[in-house]
Amino acid sequence: MVVATLVGGELSSYPPMTLNPGPTPPTRTAKPPGSDYRGIVHDEPIDPFHGDPSDPASELERLGSDHLGDPLSDTERQDVLEDLTDLEVYQALLAPTGIRGLVVECEECREPHYFDWDLLRGNLRHLLDSGMPRVHEPAFNPDPDRYVSWDYARGYCDGVQDTLADD
Ligand SMILES: [Zn+2]
Repeated sequence: MVVATLVGGELSSYPPMTLNPGPTPPTRTAKPPGSDYRGIVHDEPIDPFHGDPSDPASELERLGSDHLGDPLSDTERQDVLEDLTDLEVYQALLAPTGIRGLVVECEECREPHYFDWDLLRGNLRHLLDSGMPRVHEPAFNPDPDRYVSWDYARGYCDGVQDTLADD
């Protein structure tokens, strides 16, 4: 009722534009959440898998369009699979020496992040499944002495293999 009062003319000093109670054009913000891409509100049952990343249809959808989280390219997938394989070797050789995981220099934070073996594996699998890196989930309150870089781990394992080859 406030609007009606204003339009009544009592506040005539206001610019007429602001008093115009004309119909407001429909806006996108009026679209309720859950309405589909056609912008039509309907009573059909909503896809029970809507928004669920495990939706069997989402894979097809992603192949057909640029969707959020582009799937990994074949090369990227291959890289991640190789990392997973390397990780198994590194853990097998380094865990017995007391190393708990790897430290990664984060490009975003410019800080080292410490990842336990299991966490690293989980992150790589997540990347394979979803095409999206996980949000940072570094180990809590890590002991930096117990984490090594990928490069160190690689060098260490190469060294071990050379030693074995010499025997
Ligand atoms: Zn970071």
